[in-house]
Amino acid sequence: MTVRTRFAPSPTGMLHIGGARTALFSWLYARHHGGQFVLRIEDTDRERSTDEATQVILDGLKWLGLDWDGEPVFQAARQAEHVLAVEQLLEEGHAYRCYCSKEELDEMREAQRAAGEKPMYDGRCRHRSDRPADAPFVVRFRSPDEGETVVHDLVLGDVSFPNAELDDLILLRSDGTPTYNLAVVADDAAMAITHVVRGSDHLNNTPRQIQLYQALGLPIPQFAHIPLIHGPDGAKMSKRHGSVAITEYREQGYLPEAVNNYLARLGWSHGDEEVFSREQMIELFELEQVGKAAARFDQQKLDWLNAHW
Ligand code: GLU
Repeated sequence: MTVRTRFAPSPTGMLHIGGARTALFSWLYARHHGGQFVLRIEDTDRERSTDEATQVILDGLKWLGLDWDGEPVFQAARQAEHVLAVEQLLEEGHAYRCYCSKEELDEMREAQRAAGEKPMYDGRCRHRSDRPADAPFVVRFRSPDEGETVVHDLVLGDVSFPNAELDDLILLRSDGTPTYNLAVVADDAAMAITHVVRGSDHLNNTPRQIQLYQALGLPIPQFAHIPLIHGPDGAKMSKRHGSVAITEYREQGYLPEAVNNYLARLGWSHGDEEVFSREQMIELFELEQVGKAAARFDQQKLDWLNAHW
């Protein structure tokens, strides 16, 4: 089996340090295994996605030397395939049309809260046939009610999710556009991705994606969720921190080798060695050595590494 990993940024902002590190780990894993690394630009949010952001992300990856195989795939262009996957699920009884209005859903949640329950869709449209055929609808996944879904994560180990806590996910919105989880599964399968390496902020989506792979009869890839990077104060860093855009380091005169070494060190360690060439990193990198805890951003370390070159 050829290892195929991907980086799947949404072009709604710059390439920040967290995204660049996810890309680096995904790239390193593919290169270490003599595999392929591909890019998918997740531009389905038409209002927030821009060509400039795509360009900035590609520039940042090029500057870091994270070369990708083939041409980037643009997710919005694959909508017809996403809809086909939903049709398959509908035909096979794994999905259903939900005609609940916003008011009805609000009322349902209110009643659940009043009863001390966690608000979640109760599946009432699973068996309902009293709706006019031309009423607006969304398509929901008929997710399993019992048992659990286990993510066998290469970094975090086994993580179990009780199925009863996962409600019937919307796959297609009322305007006919696919939602994130459906599009990602259809695309990762079509792109023959063997290892999904991404930030741990996506971990909660993974049991849902596994259920979709199962319902679609598709092979389930391996998953590796990389713990987030926190700021020096331990608080969450986000794309909004302008100071951590990769392109800014370039502008400030940092060397890509130093930034790559620094990014690798945020979560991955290999003995006491401090500085690696690109070839050494490829040779030594293993996802199993990535730490489970969040890494902390450390400007001094980055500057020390930069001074080394
Ligand atoms: N497009 C998503 C993001 O930028 C990543 C999706 C994924 O890796 O599955 O957060």
